[in-house]
Amino acid sequence: MRFFDTSGKLIATAGSYPQGLPTIFNPKTWQFIKDTKEKDYHQITVVLHTQNHQDWGYMQVGRSLSEFNGYLDSVKLILVLGLPIAMGMIAAASWWLSGLAMKPIYQSYRQIQQFTADAAHELRTPLAATGATVESALLMPQLEEEETRDILQTIHRQNQRLTTLVVDLLMLARLDKQPIKQREECCLNDIISDLIEEFAAMATAAGIMLTSVMRVHQPLNIIGNTDQLYRLIYNLIVNAIQYTPSCGEVTVFLNRTDYYAVIKVQDTGIGIPQNELPRIFDRFYRVSSDRSRSMGGSGLGLAIAQAIVQAHQGKLSVQSELGKGSTFTVQLPLNATHMKSDASGKLLRERIYSFKVLHRFVRIIK
Ligand code: ADP
Repeated sequence: MRFFDTSGKLIATAGSYPQGLPTIFNPKTWQFIKDTKEKDYHQITVVLHTQNHQDWGYMQVGRSLSEFNGYLDSVKLILVLGLPIAMGMIAAASWWLSGLAMKPIYQSYRQIQQFTADAAHELRTPLAATGATVESALLMPQLEEEETRDILQTIHRQNQRLTTLVVDLLMLARLDKQPIKQREECCLNDIISDLIEEFAAMATAAGIMLTSVMRVHQPLNIIGNTDQLYRLIYNLIVNAIQYTPSCGEVTVFLNRTDYYAVIKVQDTGIGIPQNELPRIFDRFYRVSSDRSRSMGGSGLGLAIAQAIVQAHQGKLSVQSELGKGSTFTVQLPLNATHMKSDASGKLLRERIYSFKVLHRFVRIIK
């Protein structure tokens, strides 16, 4: 700190004036000056006044900017080195996050690809069989009546297989696309009883004891789509009968908890290996392709069952032991109204009847 009179003559100092700085008085208020070693200093000059407002002199205060410059240099260094590192880290994190976000999209893309390939494969089989039958028939110079009938039956069978496949695929697409539109009160007791009755002949022919156990004291109603619920339990019973050797048992249980209606389809059949369990609900997945296909299965039965359960906000699970049997458990949320209405009961019975007629028709054709 230096004090000057009005002519710029040094009259007093405080602190130490650094060596190498110009000693000449400069009245400029803000000054940046350098010493002989090119070190920066900041200096401020203010005018001093006497009490009666007359100029008295100047006070000059200065300080070294070395510390500040050092700090600025380190900030610059951090920016120069840190910025690329930070950018690199941001790029890596973005790459990782985008990978994470893309994973389910990529997975569903792979699933769609797989589904398209499987669907094409399944559709090609009956088409190829029909084509081959027609081609061989065309090569024959003459056809006996019985031969013609055989050929027509083969074509009809393959056509039926195609129709079932397309109907199943459409059903899955509809279940995927939209929530259930037509909801009504469905009586699970009625659906199960009707299905047991419908499958009685098939079970007897296969040497299987098919029974139902209703562990509810009054009719158990849920709000849902009767046709779909019928189809759900239908698929589970068909599988249970198909994959149970003769002298086996298939039992359908109906029970309820506080919030759910619980349907169990239990069989004493061949069972499913533990490692296959997570995949059996996948579309077109068969545990043993050859065996399932020889039984007429397309691998869509459980996928449809799963989709129906999901459309009803329920849960479908399976427990199985190889060689001992399987139990498929369906949990469907109960609604506030459990009372059976006559009108909906009648509608339900009519729908079940038309569904049964359709399935009997398909079976007779098969
Ligand atoms: P599929 O039309 O081939 O039966 P599903 O989707 O209904 O197709 O079933 C998928 C696979 O799960 C079947 O190939 C079958 O091997 C197995 N599976 C389903 N239900 C049972 C069962 N109750 N017992 C043993 N295996 C079963």
